Amino acid sequence: MILGKYSFGIGDRFCHQGKPQLAALIKAKERGLDITPVWNKSHREHTIIGTSPADTRKEADDAVTAYGWDGPYFVDADHIGLNNVDGFIESSDFFTLDVADFIGKTMNEADVNSFVQKYKKYIGPLAIDGIDETFNISEEQIKTIADKFLLAIKQAGKIYRHIEAAKGTPAKPGSDRTGLRPDFITEVSMDETDQPQTPVEMFFILAAIADEGIPAQTIAPKFTGRFNKGVDYVGNVRGFAKEFEEDLAVVAFAVKEFGLPENLKLSIHSGSDKFSIYEPIAKALKKFDAGLHIKTAGTTWLEELIGLAMAGGDGLSIAKEVYAGALSRMDELCGPYETVIDIDRAKLPTAQEVDKWDGERFASVLRHEQSCEQYNLNFRQLLHVAYKVAAEMGTRFSDALDKYEDIIAQNVTENIYERHIRPLFIE
Ligand SMILES: [Zn+2]
Repeated sequence: MILGKYSFGIGDRFCHQGKPQLAALIKAKERGLDITPVWNKSHREHTIIGTSPADTRKEADDAVTAYGWDGPYFVDADHIGLNNVDGFIESSDFFTLDVADFIGKTMNEADVNSFVQKYKKYIGPLAIDGIDETFNISEEQIKTIADKFLLAIKQAGKIYRHIEAAKGTPAKPGSDRTGLRPDFITEVSMDETDQPQTPVEMFFILAAIADEGIPAQTIAPKFTGRFNKGVDYVGNVRGFAKEFEEDLAVVAFAVKEFGLPENLKLSIHSGSDKFSIYEPIAKALKKFDAGLHIKTAGTTWLEELIGLAMAGGDGLSIAKEVYAGALSRMDELCGPYETVIDIDRAKLPTAQEVDKWDGERFASVLRHEQSCEQYNLNFRQLLHVAYKVAAEMGTRFSDALDKYEDIIAQNVTENIYERHIRPLFIE
């Protein structure tokens, strides 16, 4: 299985918006742009909501059947590790191996030394096509990188071989495959950690990935700056742009140096709503003729709330109740997302205030239109992590999603197409 040049991580909390999400990619296709849909959902989300990987598979298959999508599509077991991968084996054909927890854990010295020995040839000046500065690599630096990352990549190797044993060997990208052997796409993710990886670190991480025999088609580093959930990028946009271009250059170089899959590309996690970096990303992709995978699943749940609010009546009541519930359980809900949200509690409206709003008002405070005066990014981030409150409403919530399907679908498609796909891939 080969992941196309551009792919888009959709998927949504309640497995209800498969069709409107796919509709956005169909719109792109009508404009001549091929983007592969990937429905991703993590173990964390499944646990909080009470869904299972089979539900995501069904959502994807149903959407594809309903709209006659004849291109490839995938179901991504997002952020899995050895302890929870088994539940995803059957339903998924894309696996995001999360090894962030193993970064910085000590590796045995013999392995570190043999890694340093193997890559000694890079000591000294290292020039990479597309990067202005020449890196100066020292033995000490390779050792430090191996100390920090080697154990994590060994762990990725273990998870990979575990999946391979269960699902079969993936074909090498580019090879001619006609058999029915089951196979899958592999991503290695290191985004949920404290420090961004530098381009030089990335280079040796890719060396280690090749050593482990992991046919990674995507790699998700942690980038500089804040990738808060559901809101814009916070950080130095020019610094990000430089780092992103260097990462693209390193990936292209490492593919050749280490014989990694030709289509290996970067994956951006928490990629939805990062409007201020879409332009530099789009430019860099053109400059390097590079592909991209971007995960945006979280943004769709907010469009469900916007749709419910705009529907008025019991839809609006549910949206308000979710907010009131979130406000009273803020610590509990924010806990699992601590490193990826920044909420200024003083700027949150009270539940009483929100109760007086009409649907239009609720939607404008929540909708990610930064030019709109009513938009409140604190309100938006809190609701982003509040899906557990909706999950606890059970069928009352899912019935409302069905009842107001049309208006929700409109918002879901428009958000993905207009605010994400267009700036990233079209203009
Ligand atoms: Zn992630």
